Amino acid sequence: MEISFEKEIEQLRLGDGKTFHGEGILAITKALLESGVSYIGGYQGAPVSHLLDVMVQAKELVAELGVHVEACSNEASAAAMLGASIHYPLRGAVTWKSIVGTNVAADALANLASPGVTGGVLMVIGEDYGEGASVVQERTHAYAMKSGLLLFDPRPELQTMVAMVRHAFAASEASNMPAMMELRIRACHLRGSFVCSDNQRPVVSTLAPLDGPAAFDYGRLAHPPSTFRHEKLKVEQRLPAARNYILEHQLNELRDGRHARVGIIVQGGVSHALLRALQDFGAADAFGNSDVPLLILNVTYPLVHEQIAEFAANKDALLMVEEGSPEYIEHEIASVLRRHGLNAAVHGKDMLPAVGELNPEAMLQGLAQFFTRHLPIIDVQPVRMRLDATAARRQQLAAQLQRAAVPNAMPPSATLPARPPGFCTGCPERPVFSALKLAQQDVGRVHVAADIGCHSFATFEPFSLGHSILGYGMSLASRAGVSPMMQPRVISIMGDGGFWHNGLLTGVQSALFNGDDAVLLIFKNGYTSATGTQDIISTPGAASKATAVDKTASLTATDRTIEDTLAGIGVKWLRTVHSYRVSAMRRVLREALTTDFRGLKVIVAEGECQLERQRRIRPWLEALLARGERVVRVKYGVDEDVCNGDHACMRLSGCPTLTLKDNPDPLKVDPVATVIDGCVGCGLCGENAHAATLCPSFYRAEVIRNPRWHERAVDAVRGMVLRMLRPA
Ligand code: SF4
Ligand code: SF4
Repeated sequence: MEISFEKEIEQLRLGDGKTFHGEGILAITKALLESGVSYIGGYQGAPVSHLLDVMVQAKELVAELGVHVEACSNEASAAAMLGASIHYPLRGAVTWKSIVGTNVAADALANLASPGVTGGVLMVIGEDYGEGASVVQERTHAYAMKSGLLLFDPRPELQTMVAMVRHAFAASEASNMPAMMELRIRACHLRGSFVCSDNQRPVVSTLAPLDGPAAFDYGRLAHPPSTFRHEKLKVEQRLPAARNYILEHQLNELRDGRHARVGIIVQGGVSHALLRALQDFGAADAFGNSDVPLLILNVTYPLVHEQIAEFAANKDALLMVEEGSPEYIEHEIASVLRRHGLNAAVHGKDMLPAVGELNPEAMLQGLAQFFTRHLPIIDVQPVRMRLDATAARRQQLAAQLQRAAVPNAMPPSATLPARPPGFCTGCPERPVFSALKLAQQDVGRVHVAADIGCHSFATFEPFSLGHSILGYGMSLASRAGVSPMMQPRVISIMGDGGFWHNGLLTGVQSALFNGDDAVLLIFKNGYTSATGTQDIISTPGAASKATAVDKTASLTATDRTIEDTLAGIGVKWLRTVHSYRVSAMRRVLREALTTDFRGLKVIVAEGECQLERQRRIRPWLEALLARGERVVRVKYGVDEDVCNGDHACMRLSGCPTLTLKDNPDPLKVDPVATVIDGCVGCGLCGENAHAATLCPSFYRAEVIRNPRWHERAVDAVRGMVLRMLRPA
C-alpha cells in the first residue's frame, strides 16, 4: 500500500510520562507494545485495519523490541496463531473485523479456548455494528459466551481503553481464558490523549527466543478425552478466576448517585452516549458524574454476579443499556436477581430499541420511559418536547425534499433520495460490469453470485448485478446450490482479496473436485482494496513498481501468482483480459457463458485499483512537473451539441464524474451528459461508446503541462484559425 504511517509510528515510540495524541485504534496499538506483546497478527477490516497497517510498516520499531508481526491470510489464520503458543509465557495479540471475521475464526477460537492459555492472549475486535457498519448485524458477545472468552467493552476514552488492554492480558493469564476486546467504529476513530508508559521488550521474542519446545502434555490438546476436562475447567476454575480478577481490579466502574432506588447498568462502549443523554435530563454533568447510580461494564463477559446483586440490592428498578440483539446481558441479570431473591424490576429492550445503534435519540426515548415509570422526580417533558420537535422537523424536511424532487406531488412520501456508495472514479471494476451488462444483452440474463469487496458496489445502480452475497470469497462455493439446477450458466464474482482469503479453497477446489460447470470472474486489482488497499501475495512487489517502464501502466500484469495457482490446481479454461477493454471482456464473458467446455471457466479481469494507482503515480507526476518535464493528462468529454440526452452512457457506467448539466439548447428539455473535472481519463467512456455503439458525443482530450516548443506553436496556430472563424 502507498499510504505512509510515519507519523503514527513516531507516536508508538513515546516513552514513560509522554502524552500520546491520536486515534483510539492507534492508542490500542501502543498499549499492546506497552504490555510486552511477543507477536501481533491479524486480518484487516474496518474499523481496526490501522492496527495491523501501522505495525506492518513499523519494521524498525518491532525489530528493536523483538516483536513478530504477521499479516495473516484470513481471520482463521490469525486466530490459529494464538493456538500454538498456549504452552509458553508469551503474550500474543491479533485483530480483525467482527462479526464476519469472528465467524471465519470460530473453529480456531473454539480449539484455543478449550485448553486455555498460559501467556495472555488478546483479540482486538472491530465491532462493525450500527450506523456506518458494512457487515451483517450480529453480536460478538455470543462467541464469548459459547467458547468461554473474556469480553472487554471499554468505555471509549483513551486512558481507559489503554488500561483495559493491560488488564486484558493480565486477566487472561489469571484465568487462562483468551480475551477479546470489542471496539465499536466510533471508539476506533475517536481522538484523544493518554499518558504513555515505556514499550516493553517481551519476555520471549525474536531477540530472546525460547530454548526449546515445552514437554509433551496431552491435557493441553483440544482432543478427547482432554476436552471433557477442559469443559469442567472452564466452568469451575476459569470463569471464577476471571470474575475474581474483574472484581479485585475494579474493572467495572461503579458510580453512586443520589437517586439510589434506581440504577442503570451499561456496556462500557456505549456509556458515553448514556451519560450525554442523562445530561439532557439534567441528571449528569459533563464530567461523567450522574445522579442515577451507574454500573459501567468494561468487561461484559463474564458478568460478576455478586457485583450485579450488590448493585441491585435495595433498588426498585434497573435499566440495562445494551446494544444489539439478543439481549444476552439483560437475560443474565434477570436470572441473577431471581437467584439472589431480589425484586428490582429489570428493564432494557422493553424501553430501548431491540436492534440498531444506541444513538442519543434512542437513549433519550428509553430514559424518558424509564424515568416516567420509576423516577418521576425527573422532569422528562422538555426532552419529550425536543424529541417530538425533532420528529416533526424530520417529517417536514422529508416532505420538502419530496416536493422539490416531484413538483406538486401530494401527499408527499417521507422517503429521501438514496445515495448508494459506488466505485471510485476510474475504478477498473466498473468497465467489467459494463461488459457484463452488455454480455447479458447477447446471452440473456444470468444468475450472479456476488461476493464481498469493492465489486459489491455493482449491486447498486446502474448495474444492479448480484443475486446473493455470501461471506468473503464464497461466491463460487455458493453457486453450487443453484448452477446445477439452472439452464443458463451462473457467474460467480470474486476479488483477488477474496480469492486468497477463502475462495481458492472453498470455491475453486470444490468446483474442480466435483467437475462443476461453473464460471468464475476474478478481479485482479492487486490489493485488498475494500479494506484499505493492503498488499496480498499477488501484489506486484516494490521491484515492479520501481522498474516499470511506464509508471502509469497497470502493475498487476507483472504478477501471475493467481493465474499460475489456478493452472497448477488444474483449471483448464483460463482467460486474462484487461479490465478496461469492454468489447474484449464482453466477448470472453459471452464465450464463458456459452462454450461447450464443461468444467470450471475462470476469467481474470486485470486492472490495478485506481485508488492505489493514483497514490502511486501522483508523487511521480509531481516530481516530473517540478523538474519542468512534459506531463500529459488524458480527459474525456461530451460534445453537448451531439449528446441526444438519452443517458445510455450513464446506465452503462455510473462514473461519478460522468454527470448531467442543463441542456444549452433552449428547444430541448432533457439535460445533457457532461464530464466534470475529476475524470482520470480511464478510457471507459470511449470503450463504452464503442462497445455499445452509443452516440458519437464523447471526445478524448490530452491536457499537456510543460508542452514542447512545437506543441506551443501548433496551439498558437490553432487558436489563430479559431479566432478567424469566429463571427465578429
Ligand atoms: S478502491 Fe480501488 S477497486 Fe475499490 S472502488 Fe476504488 S478504485 Fe475500485
Ligand atoms: S473516462 Fe469516463 S468513466 Fe473514466 S474517469 Fe473519465 S468520465 Fe469516468
